[in-house]
Amino acid sequence: MEKSRSLLKASVENISAKHVDNYATFMLQTVYHSMSEPANQIDEVRAAKEAWQQCLNIIRDNINPQSFKTWFEPIVPLKLSNGELTIQVPSQFFYEWIEENYYSLLKRTILEVIGRHAKLTYSVVVQQSPIEPVTIKLPQQPSAPMPEVRPIAVSRAAHDFYKAHVQRFESYLNPRHSFENFIQGDCNAFALAAARSVAETPGKNAYNPLVIYGGVGLGKTHLVQAIGNYARIKRKAEFILYVSSEKFAIDFVTSIQNNRISEFSAFYRGIDLLIIDDIQFFAGKGKTQEEIFHIFNTLHQANKQIVLSCDRPIKELRDMEERLLSRFQWGLATDLQPPDFETRLAILRRKLEDNGATLPDDVVNFIATNVTSNVRELEGCLVRLLATASLQGKEIDLALAKSVLKDIIRDRNVNITLEMIEKVICEYYQISPNDIKGKSRKQEIAAARQVAMYLSKRLTNSSFKTIGLHFGGRDHSTVIHAVTTVEQAQQTSPELRRDILELKKRLEILSL
Ligand code: ADP
Ligand code: MG
Repeated sequence: MEKSRSLLKASVENISAKHVDNYATFMLQTVYHSMSEPANQIDEVRAAKEAWQQCLNIIRDNINPQSFKTWFEPIVPLKLSNGELTIQVPSQFFYEWIEENYYSLLKRTILEVIGRHAKLTYSVVVQQSPIEPVTIKLPQQPSAPMPEVRPIAVSRAAHDFYKAHVQRFESYLNPRHSFENFIQGDCNAFALAAARSVAETPGKNAYNPLVIYGGVGLGKTHLVQAIGNYARIKRKAEFILYVSSEKFAIDFVTSIQNNRISEFSAFYRGIDLLIIDDIQFFAGKGKTQEEIFHIFNTLHQANKQIVLSCDRPIKELRDMEERLLSRFQWGLATDLQPPDFETRLAILRRKLEDNGATLPDDVVNFIATNVTSNVRELEGCLVRLLATASLQGKEIDLALAKSVLKDIIRDRNVNITLEMIEKVICEYYQISPNDIKGKSRKQEIAAARQVAMYLSKRLTNSSFKTIGLHFGGRDHSTVIHAVTTVEQAQQTSPELRRDILELKKRLEILSL
């Protein structure tokens, strides 16, 4: 082991900073603290970092970049002592996933790097109390005080109302939204696995609440409903309710107006698996938030499962009560990413199959290549294409697909302007419009300018020349260079990919 250690002279100075960064932005936006004692041997820590860096180099070459980013970047090496490498993983679920999917790769790699007698130990970060996320090992924190719970006033009327609802209880689940119909890809594998796990053991797992977040049309509603459908069919829970936040808020207000608030409360407190979709709509609705807070506490304490969806990470929600946000972060949060090419292809094929339709391969490829932002749009495209074809009584070929698709793509982007891109970029990178149009060659400014040019080319129909003129009267060749640079940099920089996704999301919202 000494020998292999001395071979491990890779540059590791930045490792922990990098991990901290990844950790903070990693999809498990939850509360961390560790059960074990702090590592006190600096050498052991350093050795662990060096060995783990070597392992990562090998692992990176053996799995796809998305999986690497998801499963290996967030791991923090803690110590290496007597051939035993301890690594910290963000949750029990994460640990199980790695063991299930990467066991042999990990074993091979560790034996190769550390030696024949190497051992691997996981330190699982426990998600418990609403403290600030930490990325280093900490001694166990005292657990959070029990949440205050408002006593439920179950009046006779409430009781009757509840009974009446139960008798004609409706879950509001769309059976089409099943796990079977949900195509798995790198973009959603983690979320899907978490959802399955919750559906299997509602209320009896560490993922309470389970929060699924992501942009529009990425499958949040489908996935949260799949949990409900599965639990219903397999009888894992009795009273399962899917409700959109809007409906919840409207029902709540109506119940106040009709003086039936205690019935409303009692009804929700009797649910075994409560699924609330799009919780971002609770923003600014103080009274509704308060009601949710109390329902949440009652259900959580009774080990009832809560599943939430949101269009952004919980910590990015504004105008929400702190105590509610902290509870929403008690369980597991996992995101849905836009589908990659293979997943888009698989989804299209499945939708065709379900509709008993066929399309030439080049047409399917063409759609999968050009409609990239979300699944709903992918579906919309397919529906439109099939409808146009049947209305016009035409065979679908690439030419027809191109004309239909062009329309949809133009529709989508028609509202995005160079001014919007400028505004969003300036806000995001915190630079002034003068800077972006000016002569500054400062790194941050030049980089932001390049991203602005790239987005302008991708999201508007403007020519290189127009874009160059808009961003400070620059030559069209400068714009071409910027577009290629950003295109290439995305291949190697997850941070840039993330920035661009976020910027697109903001532009999408701005252009609605
Ligand atoms: P969101 O709630 O995130 O806006 P939805 O769940 O409504 O998105 O999904 C939009 C459409 O795309 C739905 O028809 C859904 O069935 C479909 N969809 C999303 N993701 C997938 C997937 N991975 N496999 C199959 N269909 C999907
Ligand atoms: Mg939805």
